[in-house]
Amino acid sequence: MANFQDLNLNTPLYNALDDLGFTTPTPIQEQAFNVVSSGKDVVGIAQTGTGKTFAYMLPILKNLPFSKQENPRVLVLVPTRELVVQVVDEIEKLSKYINNRVLGVYGGTNINTQKQAIAQGLDILVATPGRLYDLALSRVLQLKSIQKLVIDEVDVMLDLGFRHQLINIFDILPERRQNIMFSATMTQDVDLLINDFFKTPERVSIAVSGTPLENIHQVRYNVPNFYTKVNLLAHLLQDTEQYNKVLIFVAFKRMADRLFEQLDEFFKEELCVIHSNKTQNYRLRSIEQFREGHNRILIATDVMARGLDIDNVSHVINFDTPEYPENYMHRIGRTGRAERLGEALVFSTEKEKDAIEGIESLMKMQIPVLEIPEEVQISTELIEEERPQIKERNNPTKRKDEDAPGPAFHEKSEKNSKENLGGSYKFKIAAKYKKPKTRGDKNYNKRNKKK
Ligand code: AMP
Repeated sequence: MANFQDLNLNTPLYNALDDLGFTTPTPIQEQAFNVVSSGKDVVGIAQTGTGKTFAYMLPILKNLPFSKQENPRVLVLVPTRELVVQVVDEIEKLSKYINNRVLGVYGGTNINTQKQAIAQGLDILVATPGRLYDLALSRVLQLKSIQKLVIDEVDVMLDLGFRHQLINIFDILPERRQNIMFSATMTQDVDLLINDFFKTPERVSIAVSGTPLENIHQVRYNVPNFYTKVNLLAHLLQDTEQYNKVLIFVAFKRMADRLFEQLDEFFKEELCVIHSNKTQNYRLRSIEQFREGHNRILIATDVMARGLDIDNVSHVINFDTPEYPENYMHRIGRTGRAERLGEALVFSTEKEKDAIEGIESLMKMQIPVLEIPEEVQISTELIEEERPQIKERNNPTKRKDEDAPGPAFHEKSEKNSKENLGGSYKFKIAAKYKKPKTRGDKNYNKRNKKK
């Protein structure tokens, strides 16, 4: 294994590492150092706890000359205020013997204090996207000197819906810059962002071990569609003794909600869900309830389940087959911990066959297939995504790319761009016209009956 001396750092950095008691670079630090130093765009795949912050900060700090100029030269974007604090702290530790100015900014706090801090001049700015953009618009913050942009936890960032914020920020940054992006998981959204905005980035990742823990027993079911998957799941989960702590993975938050709705009917209090559309409090409560055994079943998306540290998970169920084999490894690794035997199940449809092959080739093994039990009803009903897409051929009035999946974003049409006046506006209109103006206003009749 390499040692920090092999990375050819400089004395201030060595001294700081000495004070921290760090002697050997972690694998991601070792791999990322030369690539980040080269100035090329980089995508690093690494989870929290792997030393990823130093993986990008060591080469950046080594190559950042002392400067008296006021505008920041390095911008680090992170999804949450907690991470701003943590990353600033890490940079400060490494900068103990370097004369540089580091500042963290995030929303929900007084923007004027932050403006004053910026006006003092700085080298490295760590920020959440929203606050960064507000500060840039206010013109107190000048981004014209940014040479390096780091986006950390980009998977979480996209899951929280920051894609457009990021694109707006890209627009106001100098074009000539190095982009460095770190993500814990590869997702479709991350892939899309890379393809759209990065110039043939170099990838660095700590190879996910393709060797599953020996104490995880894996099985697979071939299932034709969503509703049959629900039926199979509901059938299996009836065995409360075996299935006593079950983590169910789905790829998208919409699917998490849909599955929750379906299972809620059967399992009510036993069930909870976490994904990024839920509030932080809701998510924390769900995790706690599951950890302590009050809820037997937790539905989670890959991104949100990442930081979860939960013991004694009896079963990990892949309700869908992850497209990226690494995600499968991360998912099933949640069971079979601490010498206990764990069970991992994967449901796959015909469409997911390729994904299964990817997983099996990473693991260099086949997952044994089980027959769907006879009691399970095979559904023929299809959800929207499963229905065949009707393609109009040779329609001259249709643009070629109309069917192409694009970002789910539409400019507001003029009539919708008015301020949302909320319920009271609806009620005013309803009162004026003496009839409900919207179908959604279920309480209208109730309210008006009493009058
Ligand atoms: P991170 O993945 O960046 O959140 O880092 C996880 C923790 O590992 C942080 O507390 C770092 O200070 C620490 N760390 C980073 N690099 C090293 C290293 N080479 N040796 C030991 N600990 C490290």
